[in-house]
Order: sequence, then structure tokens, then C-alpha cells
Amino acid sequence: MSYLENASVAVIGGGIGGLAAALAFSRFGAQVTVFEQAQALTEVGAGIQITPNGGRVLAALGLADRLDDHSLRAQAVQPRDGLSGRAIARFDLTGQVPSYRFFHRAALIGLLGSACRAAGVTFHLGARVGAVTTDGTVTAQGVTQRFDLVVGADGLHSVARGLLNDQRAPFFTGQVAWRGLVEGITADPVAQIWMAPGKHVVTYPLKDGLLNVVAVQERDHWAAEGWHHEDAPENLQAAFSDTGAELRNLIAGVDAPRLWGLFRHPVAQHWYRDRLAILGDAAHPTLPFLAQGANLALEDAWTLAAACAALPVNEALPRYQASRAPRVTRAIAAANANARNYHLGGLRARVAHAGLRTLGTIAPNA
Ligand code: FAD
Repeated sequence: MSYLENASVAVIGGGIGGLAAALAFSRFGAQVTVFEQAQALTEVGAGIQITPNGGRVLAALGLADRLDDHSLRAQAVQPRDGLSGRAIARFDLTGQVPSYRFFHRAALIGLLGSACRAAGVTFHLGARVGAVTTDGTVTAQGVTQRFDLVVGADGLHSVARGLLNDQRAPFFTGQVAWRGLVEGITADPVAQIWMAPGKHVVTYPLKDGLLNVVAVQERDHWAAEGWHHEDAPENLQAAFSDTGAELRNLIAGVDAPRLWGLFRHPVAQHWYRDRLAILGDAAHPTLPFLAQGANLALEDAWTLAAACAALPVNEALPRYQASRAPRVTRAIAAANANARNYHLGGLRARVAHAGLRTLGTIAPNA
């Protein structure tokens, strides 16, 4: 028996976390409605790494046999000296089950969105939720509806998080990231982490001859209005002009980069009240240096839906937060530590940069 049989569930946000939650709740028998402020299901940025923990959720959602059509199976992660180009280590990923994968974000969103539609999920697109209550009401486009449960999967600037916790603005992490694509590249499915003092670049191939590039630089402050904007390729090239020729050549191929200030919140203290729960970046935004933000959102989505199927909602929501908070807190601390490792701030990385060959414990992803 599922406590979700015919329960009405609203999901605010149609990103990776929201769509995974919509599909999971629907698989457990709920009638699900997604409110997404954008006019279409879409994602900013190009590539995303889905690690085996996220892959397990995609499999549980019934998508395992469709993943090869939408992604590449990763072979390895390879940290490199960004100045000499020399590979420092190679972490083999071919034995991972399920496979570690490189997706184009649009492909992952498309896969989740079409599975939701096939499962009967209702979508309200162009529907910004202006208000939500902990007793299950959602107001969008001037219409208020009541649900048995509301899931706030509305990202870094979540209205749902603000209702459950202090209404604080996210803080700047001291890091900016350019994101872009290089076309016409044939490369092995390997993620390269190019490390240099105060900066790093992660590159990995996507389907159709694209190379995904994320270039991160430390900065004192974020002066631009808003969280991201189009930037001139020359600014990206100038920021990495002190790196080696191989990396500079790759960066020169990025012709339409966007620049992001990386902001976050602490892990939320309160993830639920009454009939409202939050997940993904709404609950625990992270620096992307462990490639776990979306993977953790996938885990949240499945854990929340499974708890609500197994238990009455007043027992399920505390169980959900208790089981998730310690794990996401550890992952976020590891991502922060990777900022130091990748930017050659840690002792081990400094030793590696000085010419030794081992980087044994650096985390095998970016
Ligand atoms: P979001 O993706 O932010 O989705 C929120 C959705 O809610 C959006 O569609 C938004 O339009 C909608 N919304 C917001 N407010 C409202 C409202 N009031 N009403 C209606 N709709 C609303 N993670 C990984 O796992 N692997 C990676 O390789 C990886 N690489 C990254 C690289 C970079 C440079 C960055 C910045 C992040 C990376 N991440 C990665 C992190 C990952 O992108 C995020 O953690 C993940 O997308 C969060 O998903 P989400 O669904 O919780 O939130």
C-alpha cells in the first residue's frame, strides 16, 4: 500500500530535482502538478556529470535503458597541472555500476520531462509561484490551489525555503565560473581537471562532438547585477592567459561563454513543515566542485517520495530530513575542500604541482 495513492502533490520548479520528484511521486501513485516559471522546460549551462548515486535514482525511476541514447559513459577523471598540461593522476571509472555519465543538461531535462508527461504529470509552464503556505496552498498566475503536499524544488532563490527558514539572500562564495562549449571536438569520454593557482577548468565531452568547459576563478566580490551574464570570450581568455598552451587552446574555442557568480546558502535548518518540504538547491546549494548538486537533488527526490509512500506525511517528512541532512552536509564540505585542492591551496596539491606524481586522495570528480 502507498500513502500516496491518489494524493495531490504540487512541485514548484521543473529543474532536475523537481522533475525527478514529480516522476517519483507519480510512480508511487500520486497525482502530480508541476509549476515552472519558465515558458519551457530548459536548463542554463551545457554539461552535467551524473555519478552512480544519481544514476541509481534514474534507474529506480525506470529510465535505465534510455540513458545511453542521452549521455556518454565516462571512462575516467584525470587531474592535470594546468600550467604544464601534465596528467597528475587518472581515476578509472569504467567499473562503476551504474555508469558515471556525461549529459547535456537539455537531454537530461528532456528525458525526465517526457517521462513525467508519459506518467500523467500536469505541467503549468510560465507559472511563477508567488506564494506558498505550509498547509499546502500554491498561488500562481493569480490562482490558488490546495494540495495534500507541496514540494519546493525551486532552486537557490526558493520561495519555499524562505518560508521555512530565515529570509536571507544567498552569499557569494568567492568563485566565478564561465560555462561554454567547444564544437567539433573528438575526445575520449574523460573529465579533465586542469588545476592552477586560484583557478581551475573542468572539460569533458558530450554527445555530438561537443566539449563542455567550466572555468572557475577566485574573486573577491561579484560586482555584476544579477547572478550570471553573457561575457566576452576575451575576458575568459585573459583570466586563463597564465595557463599552459594546451588549456589556452581549448579555452580559445569557447565562443559564447556565460559568466556566473557562484552563490549559496548554508544547508537549510528546516526542510519541512506540515505539508511543505524542500529539496535540491532549495535546501542545500553547493559549490559544483564535487559534481553533486544535481545528484543530491535526485537522491532527495527519491528519498522524499519513498518516505511519503511508506509513512503518513507527518512521519515521512522528519524521516526525510533526518536521513538526508548528514549526507548532503558531508558532500558540501567535500566540494568546499575541492576548491582548495583544485586551486592548489592544499598541501597535497602543492606537492603535486611541485612535480611529485601522486595525488592519491583527491576526490575523483569535479
Ligand atoms: P534548479 O536547477 O535551480 O531548478 C529550480 C527550478 O525552479 C528552475 O527551473 C526555476 O526556473 C524554477 N523556479 C524557481 N522559482 C520558481 C517559482 N517561484 N515558481 C516556479 N518555478 C520556479 N551538479 C551535478 O550533480 N553534476 C554536475 O556536473 C554539476 N555541474 C555544475 C556546474 C556548474 C558551473 C554549476 C553552477 C552547477 C553544477 N551542478 C552540478 C549543480 C546543479 O546544476 C544544481 O545543483 C542542480 O541543477 C539543482 O537542481 P534543482 O532542481 O534543485 O534546482
